[in-house]
Amino acid sequence: MISVHTSPLAQPGTGDAGGMNVYVVQTALEMAKRGVEVEIFTRQTSSDLPPVAELAPGVLVRHVVAGPFGGLGKEDLPSQLCAFTAGVLRDEAGQEPDWFDVVHSHYWLSGQVGWLLRDRWGVPLVHTAHTLAKVKNASLAEGDAPEPLGRLVGEEQVVAEADRLVASTPGEADALVAEYGADPDTVRTVAPGVDLQTFTPDLDRDGARARLGREAGVPIGEDDVVLAFVGRIQPLKAPDVLLRAAAEMLARRPELRSRLRVLVVGGPSGSGLAQPRVLIEMARDLGITDVVSFLPPRSGEALAEVYRAADVVAVPSHSESFGLVALEAQACGTPVVAAAVGGLPVAVADGCSGLLVDDHSARSWADALERAALDRELRGRLAAGAVEHAAVFSWDRTADALLATYSEAVTARRAGSAPRGVAV
Ligand code: UDP
Repeated sequence: MISVHTSPLAQPGTGDAGGMNVYVVQTALEMAKRGVEVEIFTRQTSSDLPPVAELAPGVLVRHVVAGPFGGLGKEDLPSQLCAFTAGVLRDEAGQEPDWFDVVHSHYWLSGQVGWLLRDRWGVPLVHTAHTLAKVKNASLAEGDAPEPLGRLVGEEQVVAEADRLVASTPGEADALVAEYGADPDTVRTVAPGVDLQTFTPDLDRDGARARLGREAGVPIGEDDVVLAFVGRIQPLKAPDVLLRAAAEMLARRPELRSRLRVLVVGGPSGSGLAQPRVLIEMARDLGITDVVSFLPPRSGEALAEVYRAADVVAVPSHSESFGLVALEAQACGTPVVAAAVGGLPVAVADGCSGLLVDDHSARSWADALERAALDRELRGRLAAGAVEHAAVFSWDRTADALLATYSEAVTARRAGSAPRGVAV
């Protein structure tokens, strides 16, 4: 697997690390369980990192030197793709002739590298875009810069070159064909999964609230109404929508003030680096500083506690290729109120496991959050539906579908019928 811009060893929920990191780690672990050896190439970003690290038995992470360890942002990395590819080829020296059977690239930067490796090694390239610039540019947050032309062209090239393209949802598959000219025969839709061992419902919700309250420095009681946002803090994820909706709820129901708690969990990311400060100022301007707590990113059980402590998890993104946070929250038995964009209508079953909101206005979001959090009968129904809906997704299934895609790509390439060369 190629993951140029972000490491499987990084903490997701901050910087450039998010759902893609979780996807790469979880699918690699599942493949290793099936006896498939996985090596993940990622850029070295610190002198402390060894050239090769074992993520788990059967899964190696190779740190490739490409440019200075610090100081380069994701937007600078197109300049380092030759260096990265050269680094991978140097690692090849001394390896078995058939080092790999398949190259799976994640995100377009990795696709550019994967395309060369595919040609050198004579193995198929399977590519997962994770996000598509044309889709993202069509629904930018206010003040967010559009993705540059270089990325659009780079994505088109990868789409044209890949033997197989993996989309997370039917909508993404359609966009690959309609907007990027992908050959429909090369596109496979494979849903991402959720770790159903970690994200489980009903384990000591009150204890989770007590612990988070201690961390936030404000007690969170059994009867409090807890709304949570989890993810990278950036304009596209729209945590500001949750703050505005919370202010609207308090304007409508002043009696809620002593019981409402809004948790924003995650770290700064990308062009929204100033965003946490902006959010803190926004909370102050909205007069809701007393109800909002900002908490650093976390993993595993500590993250599951956040989901379990919440009455509702809000996913107000302007654009979202899938939305793993929505699945994880539901697996913990917490209904999700999500924007009806991108893959979220697949991740959330509207009216069964959560509610979808068509716009980003404070009014619509306050309406939906009130319904999901305050209507006890509805909340109970959605919570049960959430567990059921999340159970449909698992990394186990994702890995099986990916391995089936690898197999058919290998067979097609050996038979000399690998579909290639869609005109850009
Ligand atoms: N995440 C995490 N810790 C945090 C916040 C987020 O591990 O404090 C993870 C979360 O569990 C999820 C991923 O980051 O798996 C975010 O994925 P999602 O698809 O929701 O958004 P993306 O980051 O890909 O845009």
